Amino acid sequence: MISVRDGQERILALLPGPVPPERIVVTRALGRVLAEDVVAPFDVPPADNSAVDGYAVGSGDVPPAGWRELDVVGDLAAGGVFAGRLAAGRALRIMTGAPLPAGADTVYPQEIVERTGDRVRVGPIAKAANVRFRGEDVEAGAIVVETGTLLRPQEIGLVTSLGLWQLEVHRRPRVALLSTGDEVAEPGTARRPGQIYDANRFTLRGSIEQCGGEVLDLGIVPDDRDVMAARLTDASRVADVVVTSGGVSVGAYDLVKAVLAELGAIDFWQVAMQPGRPLAFGRIGPAVFFGLPGNPVASLLTFLLFVRPALYRLGGRRRLFPPAWPARAGEPMRKKTGRREFKRGILAFRDGGWEVRTTGPQGSGILSSMVAGNCLIVLEEERGDVQAGELVTVEPFVEAF
Ligand code: AMP
Ligand code: MG
Repeated sequence: MISVRDGQERILALLPGPVPPERIVVTRALGRVLAEDVVAPFDVPPADNSAVDGYAVGSGDVPPAGWRELDVVGDLAAGGVFAGRLAAGRALRIMTGAPLPAGADTVYPQEIVERTGDRVRVGPIAKAANVRFRGEDVEAGAIVVETGTLLRPQEIGLVTSLGLWQLEVHRRPRVALLSTGDEVAEPGTARRPGQIYDANRFTLRGSIEQCGGEVLDLGIVPDDRDVMAARLTDASRVADVVVTSGGVSVGAYDLVKAVLAELGAIDFWQVAMQPGRPLAFGRIGPAVFFGLPGNPVASLLTFLLFVRPALYRLGGRRRLFPPAWPARAGEPMRKKTGRREFKRGILAFRDGGWEVRTTGPQGSGILSSMVAGNCLIVLEEERGDVQAGELVTVEPFVEAF
């Protein structure tokens, strides 16, 4: 038996380096992982500019008390530039975003002045009020988005604000995916008595895509040694990673083991966790191999614990593990010491704090517990039964982090 943490560390230690980068246009960059630091070529904003629609003045013309009248010398729209210097005793009508002319350092909002003809009456105001300063968002030469960052809409907007329109990102890791078992039937087709429809290939497909991977769907492989050997060999030639579900326990028809003993360097692990004990990990040719258990909850859980961090690492991401935080147990929970247990939980903010309850029956075949849940409740190895009110660790289900 190995611990979850040991398993995760061994996997990360044995992975090859990240998949190579490619250059793409920003409109395709959402959800991709940056493979370069993005450096600002200039200050943003590039010049001091007005934060409001109003009147730009030199602070020397601001009356310390009472009021003063200034001549309005022009009207500057956003996108325009005022040629020349604003002289003393003058004000420039200015729109939000327009650059301040030389000689101006303060802007009156239009609501607090009185305009009559070509003159404007102003009162006291703080020096530099309503000015957005050159470089206050981003300074020239600064790293604005670091390599390894997952690109969200805001990162992409920041990049385009620098005038850039292409980015170096990691290629998506290619993940070949297949289900094993004579009993597994393709949804949308008729099934024979004794067969079940494939769940794992679809939970795993979505999970791989959410991790930024590209899925190569190799379908369902029967419990037949030669067919499986051929399919796995094909998979290893086209993919960075091969993921299978089923066939890794010790049942008579569990062939993945036997086939892999011939094809590659594979370890079979008993992980001290519940659900999801058996797991195979290693390499087939150039590809990294994960053999996940067949039970639907166990396959998804072992994916989240072991495959997700590996795909993130291969995809070039910096953050590999999801956020977790403490929550109050809303009910007692059974727990065996010596293994890490993962219950599906419903997390809610109640009475001023986070509270979590289980989704009900927790069997490793009960996929509806994943559907009802919005988090995992992580009960650490040393822990025994949990009383209501104790703090437990929760990991919310999030698409990406
Ligand atoms: P195995 O590890 O192959 O012995 O499978 C363990 C359990 O998971 C059995 O009840 C299988 O029928 C079930 N199972 C295996 N593969 C799938 C799948 N792709 N979708 C749903 N259930 C599966
Ligand atoms: Mg099987």
